[in-house]
Parts: sequence; C-alpha cells; structure tokens
Amino acid sequence: MSQALNLLREVFGYPAFRGQQAEIISHLAQGGDCLVLMPTGGGKSLCYQIPALMRDGVAIVISPLIALMRNQVAALHEIGVRAAVLNSSLTRQETVSVERNLIAGDYDLLYVAPERLLTARFMNLISNIRIALFAIDEAHCVSQWGHDFRPEYMQLSILHERFPEVPRIALTATADKDTRKDIVERLGLSTAMVFISSFDRPNIRYRIVDKTDRYSQLLTFILKEHSGEAGIVYCLSRKKVEETAAWLTKQGLLAVAYHAGMSMQERNESQEKFLRDDSIIMVATIAFGMGIDKPNVRFVAHLDLPKSIEGYYQETGRAGRDGLAADAWMIYGLGDVILQQRRIEESEANPVHKQVTLRKLEAMLSLCETSTCRRMQMLSYFGETVTIAACGNCDICLNPPEIWNATVEVQKALSCVYRTGQNFGVRHLIDVLRGNLTNRIKEWHHDKISTFGIGKDLSVSAWRSIFRQIIALGFLKTASNEYGALRLTEKSREILKGQRAVFLHQREKSKRLSEEQPNDDLNNLNMSERALWNQLRIWRATTAKEQGVPAYVIFHDATLLELVRLCPQNANELSQVAGIGARRLEKYGSHLMAILLANSQADG
Ligand code: ADP
Ligand code: ZN
Repeated sequence: MSQALNLLREVFGYPAFRGQQAEIISHLAQGGDCLVLMPTGGGKSLCYQIPALMRDGVAIVISPLIALMRNQVAALHEIGVRAAVLNSSLTRQETVSVERNLIAGDYDLLYVAPERLLTARFMNLISNIRIALFAIDEAHCVSQWGHDFRPEYMQLSILHERFPEVPRIALTATADKDTRKDIVERLGLSTAMVFISSFDRPNIRYRIVDKTDRYSQLLTFILKEHSGEAGIVYCLSRKKVEETAAWLTKQGLLAVAYHAGMSMQERNESQEKFLRDDSIIMVATIAFGMGIDKPNVRFVAHLDLPKSIEGYYQETGRAGRDGLAADAWMIYGLGDVILQQRRIEESEANPVHKQVTLRKLEAMLSLCETSTCRRMQMLSYFGETVTIAACGNCDICLNPPEIWNATVEVQKALSCVYRTGQNFGVRHLIDVLRGNLTNRIKEWHHDKISTFGIGKDLSVSAWRSIFRQIIALGFLKTASNEYGALRLTEKSREILKGQRAVFLHQREKSKRLSEEQPNDDLNNLNMSERALWNQLRIWRATTAKEQGVPAYVIFHDATLLELVRLCPQNANELSQVAGIGARRLEKYGSHLMAILLANSQADG
C-alpha cells in the first residue's frame, strides 16, 4: 500500500486516503474487479487513477460525458499525469495522433466515449497493447430504471469477454438497489467486490422553507448568503428556467440557462460558461448536471418540488464537492403538492408505474413535512443504518419547528371537504371555513352548511399550511378534475371519528436561520485573510485564463483556503498543503510564495 500512498502524496498532494479509497485501490491494483457506490464528491476518480499509475499499461476510462472529459484530462496534465481523450470532439488528425501515442505506450489513462470504445477499429487497436484496467464511470447508465440510460452501456460486458484478465471497476453515485442489481447483471460483475460508502454529505446544509414569493426569496437567499459565488437553481419547466434566468440577469447577476429544449450547441455553451466562471448561476431543469464536476458549487436551490428523494439527493449532491460548506435550499408550498399529485393522477402511465411514482412523491413530501432531522430521514430512505438521531446541520436540527395539536383544525378542514361534496379545491374550502361570502359560495349555497365560518380564527396562510400538511400526510388527496378538487382518504376517517390525534408543525414562527448561523467557511476569515484570499483568487483566474482551463483545474477553493489559513512561509510548508503535489509545487511554488510572503510582510 505504501506505493499508493506515495502516489497520493507526491502526485495528487493529499495527505491521506478518504473513506474506502485505500481498500478499493489495493483491490483493483492487485487485479480484482470492483463495484464502487460513493456519493458525488466522495473521491471516485482517485480509485482508478492511482491504480492506473501502479499497474503496467494504459487505463481505459469509459465515460458518457464527452463535454467534460477534456477538463478531467486538463486536471491530470496539471499534476503531470499522462492522459488523453478519444471521442467525437477530436479532428481526424488529433485522433490519429492519440492512437499513435496510445500504441507507443505514452499514456497512463485514456478517456473514451462508449460508442467509440465499441467500434471494431478501437477494439483491434487495444487488442495489441497492454491494458492496466477498465474503469466504467457513471455505471448507472446501464440501467433502464434511471433517466440516464445509454444503450451502448449494455454492450460493455464485451470487455470482460474480450479481455478477461484485465480488472474492471464500475463507479456510480446512484444509490438505489435496482440500479445496483442492473449494473452487476449487465456488466457481468457478480464476482466483483462491492464497496458501498455512506451517502452522507455532512458539509451540505439542507433547508426546506415555505414558498411565499419565489423570486424575492431566491434573490434574498443568493445576495445574503452566496453573493459572488457559483450555484445551481433547479426549476420544473423549461419556461420557468428561461424566465428565472432572465429575471436574475435583470437583477444584475450572472446567470445562464440549460434545458432539453435548447440546441446542443446552446447547452454546451451554457455548461462551458458555468464550468469556467467562479460566480455564475446555472438555472436548469433536471436535464442538467450528470457528471458535472465543478467542485465549488456553493449552493443548489430548488424552486419547485422534485419528484423523488433520489432525484433531490442527486441534484443537491452537486453542491460542495470540494468539501467546503455548501447549501441545499428549497422553497415549497401547497401549489407544488397539488401540481405534482395531479400530474401523476392525470398521466397516461400504466397503473404499476403510477403507483411507484406516487410512492416516491409521498416519500419526498414526508421529507418536506418532517419534524425530525432531514439528513437522517434521507439516509434511512437509502437504507443506511442511521446511528444518530440528528445531524446538527439541517434546518430542523438547527431550528426545530414548533409542534402543535391540530386535531380540531384538521377535523374542521376534513369535514368541510365532506360537506361540500368532495368537489372543491383549497381556495374555495378556505373561503368556506373563513366564512367569506363569495359568489361561488352563494351559487352553491355553501353558506348554509355547518362548516361555514368555523375557521375564522385562522388566517388564509395558516389554513394553507394546514391543508399542505394534511395532503402531504395523506389525509386528503387531489382528484383528477379541472378544479383540483380534494377528496377524503381511508386515513381521514379515523380523524373525523376522533380516533386519532394529528400534530402539525409551524415553521412560520421560526426565526431566520441564515442570520443566526452563517454557513460559510469564508465568513470566518478576518480582514487580512480575506485580502489574501482575494489575491490568490485573482492570481488563479489569470493563470487559468492563460492556460484556457477552468479556475478549479489550477487549484480548488479548498486548497486556496488552506493556503490562507496556514500561510506557509517556505517551499517545505507549502508542500504540506492539501492539493499541492510535486508538480504543482514546481510549477506554481514561486508565484505562490511571492504572494504569501508579500502578504505576511504587509501584515507584520
Ligand atoms: P466524485 O467523482 O466521487 O464525485 P472526485 O473524484 O471528483 O469525486 O473527488 C471530489 C473531490 O475530492 C476532488 O476535489 C478531489 O480532488 C478530492 N479528493 C478525492 N480524494 C481525496 C483525498 N483522499 N484527500 C483529499 N481530497 C480528495
Ligand atoms: Zn439534521
């Protein structure tokens, strides 16, 4: 193992392995197959990059993400690793030259797209060279369950048939069991060692807040907590993506849009801009994000309710890959619940599929309405054994909601649904409860029923909050008709009969989190540290521009932050900083020392 550790320190500049990296690397380096399930940001790349350097021959990395391969290779070049890309973005000449170098044994790693790998030409080419290993990245693409399915991935079992002696490692950040089963079956990995890491991302702070006004809430969140930083804003529809991006731009922020209705070229441009810029907001549908390895995404905001916890966790997982503090922030309201339920009700999908989709939405809703730790709820949803009750870094832990006995109010709401014939939507029901003599109420004579005016004591927003929670809890469901009418369910009977109490929570009264507990590593810097941080960022931006690569390829924020905190005074101290290996020390050491020393003099 000491060889692997040396490579980690010398080449990558990191002091120690994380989680299961050491075991995975050792198993693969000795020729064993592996299946690695690790969350985004967990450090999957090192699991094959280090064995690639330890074993004879070239490691072939299969990835569906053509647009991102170049940046991965650029980052490897930065630390002196011999790597190349082979995909459809190369010219004929470039392709020939890469193939020639490959045969000459000039690469430690070669990144290829699956469709290229499967060509007869490429298969012949690699039959004559020594292969260190095959790494199958984003291995969940083999599964028809997920939305990232790639038919070419199904054919990757050929690797094992053609090259039985070459070890394979399949990697994914998708946690669910069906996908895992598919990967094992389709890729012929039944004898592979399976490594499952905890999917916890402790540096991400989860928050779900009541939706009042999407735009102003979003703007306040960004300006107060993430001004000048990079983030992703997810919306449900293409139209909302475009409107939100345009609106943010009008507010003077740098924002780009991404959705499946845009042309390939427009999408690539947006993505490229997002990867390069350090203070840019990507507004997107869920079409955006697979494999995006921008490490310094400081926040992921959801303006609409995701369809499942799987999706939500994957999307929010794109925040904070560098391990620094990051926010997953979502606004959610009654309208979201009704919209999502109706979409499923009205969809043409077969009943089994509908049931599955509904069950996933229910789990998502119960996460939104929970009054216990959100992180623990998500981890146990993924089947992890949760050993503590609270994480201390989600809104519920930081600021527990007030719980109240709402049995009487819920009974009033349910009986109002019953008395009006289960044919009306929330707005009308609240009018009846609050005793508003609207035209509709007169038309239906709902001022004559027993529930008219029995809820005068509560405001409209209080009633909306109650309805939202009881729908999410399954005491009411939306019917598929044009009004969005609400119906009673099996569960609601027990409440109407007084056999069961209902406790709801009140988030409105809770104090503002952000003002009390800032979630930002940079907030803790003093004035002179902040000045140094800014200088280092400017130097990094200039250097990145000169080389035509994103800033994080030069150094991650985590490395810059450690430079600020430790303020090394000589080359030896500099090499102790995580992220500075031999190659970077040689390349940038003197520039960095100049900045650091000038800063200490100014300070002293
Ligand atoms: P994944 O592919 O699992 O999402 P990456 O391989 O991109 O994650 O790694 C995420 C981040 O963690 C990268 O910035 C990487 O350099 C860093 N990293 C990985 N392993 C280590 C380690 N042992 N020590 C410090 N940083 C690490
Ligand atoms: Zn928590």
